[in-house]
Amino acid sequence: MLSLPMGYPILMKERPMPGGVALARRQLRSLAANEVLVRISRAAICGTDLHIIGWNAWAAKSYKPPFALGHEFSGIVIDRGNEVHDIKPGDKVAAETHLPCGHCSQCAADRGHTCLNLRVFSRLDCGAFAEYAIVPSELLRVLPADLHHKYACLMEPLGIGVRAVRESQARSGQLLVVGCGPIGLLAIAAAKATGTTRIIATDLSHDRLRLAQSIGADTLIDPSEDDANEQLMSLRPNAGGVDAAIDTSGNQAGIASALSAVRPGGTLLLAGLPNGDIGLDLSRHVILREIAVRGIYGRHLRTTWQDTIDLLPALIPALDRIVTHEFPLHEYEAAFDIATSGQAGKVQFVINDD
Ligand SMILES: [Zn+2]
Ligand SMILES: [Zn+2]
Repeated sequence: MLSLPMGYPILMKERPMPGGVALARRQLRSLAANEVLVRISRAAICGTDLHIIGWNAWAAKSYKPPFALGHEFSGIVIDRGNEVHDIKPGDKVAAETHLPCGHCSQCAADRGHTCLNLRVFSRLDCGAFAEYAIVPSELLRVLPADLHHKYACLMEPLGIGVRAVRESQARSGQLLVVGCGPIGLLAIAAAKATGTTRIIATDLSHDRLRLAQSIGADTLIDPSEDDANEQLMSLRPNAGGVDAAIDTSGNQAGIASALSAVRPGGTLLLAGLPNGDIGLDLSRHVILREIAVRGIYGRHLRTTWQDTIDLLPALIPALDRIVTHEFPLHEYEAAFDIATSGQAGKVQFVINDD
């Protein structure tokens, strides 16, 4: 077994308050039969991490500090428990972060991502903002050895973008993506790679809109501009709006504008978590215009990972643009600041880039 007498660095949410994060050291322990020791190569900051760091109402309800931060990563397997046979030392891995029970009615219905007994990586105290992580083997997926860690560590959020685009069924039509943060950008890249006819992107940040354009958005709208709603309404007046919208902002005004921009019978997929309760005009849009509104929570466990692998070659140039910042782990404060600024694409920690 690997010996680390001084332990390894790991970023912890230590206190239940905004911030409250510190770089600690953790000792390696022996592996349970189903566990795998991974040396983390890269890890990416996710919106969930930012909610936890900002300690909003949702985070305060869902998490109890102290616990280890970070769940989007790729790395190399160093060691495995004695019941792990399908993953071996030297494998390049990333994690599917949803761990279903395998025997409830949701699991039986091929909906393991909404398993009634679902466990998620970020609540297992594994921690990916660290040099090492001990991970249940069921969560790990082996990746092609030649896939660079920069892209490998995007598999989890990219899967959300790929799935949202697939389920929007807007392929031969028009797709509105509200919010050009990392998930919005990944959805735009996936929409472009799967041949969506026209992609409309909205964001308050012009840097992010430019980034969206560089990876395939055809029409850019800044919702703070006076005529933003008219711009949205003028999209396909004969069709009554866009075929589908994906909200990644979690913002009340953003969701409301997405809802009113979708044509009758179209689809709105919600992938961004609102901070709390929000109000929407359900009579006017959802009922009288029969818009289907549905959440997207993670990846479809049986299909999305492979769908994403299949799309990767077409996505690499976009992913290169979407990763806008790279930091060593000890510069975590600067990394979280830029990720929170609303100006960045995906922010990654480069921990052991091998
Ligand atoms: Zn994530
Ligand atoms: Zn289940």
